[in-house]
Amino acid sequence: MLKGIAASSGITIAKAYKLETPEIIIERVESDPVVEIEKFNRALEQSKRDIEVIKLKATGRLSEEELKIFDAHLMVCQDPALCDGVIDKINSEMVNADFALDAVAGMFISMFESLEDAYMRERAADIKDVTRRIKYHILGVNIADLSLIDEEVIVVAHDLTPSDTAQLNKDFTKGFATEIGGRTSHSAIMARSLEIPAVVGVTDIMSTVKHGDMLILDALKGKVFINPDEETIAKYRVEAQRYEEEVAALKEYKDKESVTVDGHHVELAANIGTPDDVAAVLENGGEGIGLYRTEFLYMGAKDWPTEQEQFEAYKKVLESMGDKPVVVRTLDIGGDKHLDYYEFPEEMNPFLGYRAVRLCLDQKEIFRTQLRALLRASAYGKLRIMFPMIATINEFKEAKGVYEEEKAKLVAEGVTIGDDIQVGMMVEIPAAAVLADKFAQIADFFSIGTNDMIQYSMAADRMSEKVSYLYQPFNPSLLRLIKMTIDGAHAHGKWAGMCGEMAGEPDAIPVLLGLGLDEFSMSATSILRARKIVNSLSYAEMKELANKALELETDEEVLELIQSTVK
Ligand code: PEP
Ligand code: MG
Repeated sequence: MLKGIAASSGITIAKAYKLETPEIIIERVESDPVVEIEKFNRALEQSKRDIEVIKLKATGRLSEEELKIFDAHLMVCQDPALCDGVIDKINSEMVNADFALDAVAGMFISMFESLEDAYMRERAADIKDVTRRIKYHILGVNIADLSLIDEEVIVVAHDLTPSDTAQLNKDFTKGFATEIGGRTSHSAIMARSLEIPAVVGVTDIMSTVKHGDMLILDALKGKVFINPDEETIAKYRVEAQRYEEEVAALKEYKDKESVTVDGHHVELAANIGTPDDVAAVLENGGEGIGLYRTEFLYMGAKDWPTEQEQFEAYKKVLESMGDKPVVVRTLDIGGDKHLDYYEFPEEMNPFLGYRAVRLCLDQKEIFRTQLRALLRASAYGKLRIMFPMIATINEFKEAKGVYEEEKAKLVAEGVTIGDDIQVGMMVEIPAAAVLADKFAQIADFFSIGTNDMIQYSMAADRMSEKVSYLYQPFNPSLLRLIKMTIDGAHAHGKWAGMCGEMAGEPDAIPVLLGLGLDEFSMSATSILRARKIVNSLSYAEMKELANKALELETDEEVLELIQSTVK
């Protein structure tokens, strides 16, 4: 049994599907051209078939535009300059097929990569992708491809990038376990929104588990059992059943109000990554969207999404939510979130670097496009815009200034714009929390981002399992930062929410309620449990609890206090 961090609840029993990108070493070997050409042609045919299957599977799940990438890949397989080039090289130099392919493709890749044109550079990426597949086939290396999975499995990987996670097909991927990552790494967050059980930060799982091993993933306790005995399997089948029943029982809270026994109302909202997530929000009784992470729209694209593409996505979310509020966060790229079409500067600490609003204020065209799309969509619902990673008053003022400029331009163009848009900010940098009373004079609302706030206040990288013990939502120092933020907002008649993962933690809800948090935004699947908790608590008692917690010294003490007060 291996231990990790439970990142997305659930229990699954299935075979392991190891996602590996094997390092292959290519050497020049003198060879028989007939044999090598045959190998090459066979690998080429297999690769074409793979791509066709992947395309077929993705049809319906991806947009027409996104599907075109597979046509581009098929074209690479049929490109005479590449294919004839490889065959000529095998013939004239009597070399092995993989070596010939590597050399010829390498030449095209560097040629396309050196061009300024973004379209041409994309071609380089296509050639790289396809030739890697052909090389694997020549060498008989197993190609792990998430979109090719067609049986129930638990994906095991060193790491899953957010875009890998987005590709997971829920019908077959019954869970995943990775070596790196913490509760608030973005693949963990996406696993929760996809409702796929996940355990992350499982040291050595790649060297311990073999492809096809039977696994039990206990994503409630953060355990992975490898080839367990029948008795353990039977025990876990019962556990899984019990968990499912518990989840089903929570359904009765769907249409209840989020109110304490003494009549204090709060709002329970959801975090989403794409417009497709809205259905789960409504199914789980979400009263709004407290965080729409728009960066996934950018990460799923081949190039910067246009104003129109963005407008359509935002409009869809706003319309589906009707009169419920939707907090859309402007682009928060950087840190662990990358783009295929944009090269981030090399930095020692990307989480402390060029990301989010810092990038948007530096490259204002990107920011303006998004703000225009948002403003145009505002006519279709109750829009709240929030800027991520605000550290200083001047940053907020500058971002708000760009917003006002775009708004004025659209009004002059005669475009209809919603009349109750709020413009707020994430409070996730301790400096902003400390100055919350000043920010509250210019921002319409706050949403506390504890995932980043904890990593910044503890100086502990949220991606590192080695320092994951410093992810301490219950540390009194963090509770004090949260209190400052909420009090700052309330002093100026503004509301304060939280969209970091802490907002959905059952043990955190009592103390957050007591601190006066107005809105709790979490993964959709956590809402019903949160409502059950809120319905069972007294606001007056939770205020007392929070006051006591603020005077304690350690996270353990706070947790103990909460657990002994709230049975
Ligand atoms: C946070 O930092 O708490 C947050 C909600 O934003 P993200 O996890 O996307 O950085
Ligand atoms: Mg953040």
